[in-house]
Amino acid sequence: MAKTFSDAPTPTPEELDQMHALYRQGGQERQMAPHIVYAEPTCPHAGCGEPMQAIDFRLEDHGRAVHDPLVRAWWNDTGFVGRCPHCGGWIHFTIRSKRAVTADEAARYPQLPEDWHAKATIL
Ligand SMILES: [Zn+2]
Repeated sequence: MAKTFSDAPTPTPEELDQMHALYRQGGQERQMAPHIVYAEPTCPHAGCGEPMQAIDFRLEDHGRAVHDPLVRAWWNDTGFVGRCPHCGGWIHFTIRSKRAVTADEAARYPQLPEDWHAKATIL
């Protein structure tokens, strides 16, 4: 008999990967708007401190030419990059994390419009 839920230990990395895959699949099928709550409360660049825990990117406000490829990149786990409105550093945003990247690295990913933070809701 299967273990009851209360006996279940914290999910294994494999179980987390399965949950992540399921979540991505659902979002991709529905072309859901990327919005995210990260564990880290601020910009990932050292010494910045710009609040950046929860983000609703509002990609629909930028038109389909921006929206469509970025939504696709979000749900296929490529993610996209944008500059911090405070320190100007490039940040790579994905479903699971946000991380500081160099301009060279940023050039390899789909990029948010320059004014992304003016339209996005960032908390
Ligand atoms: Zn910053």
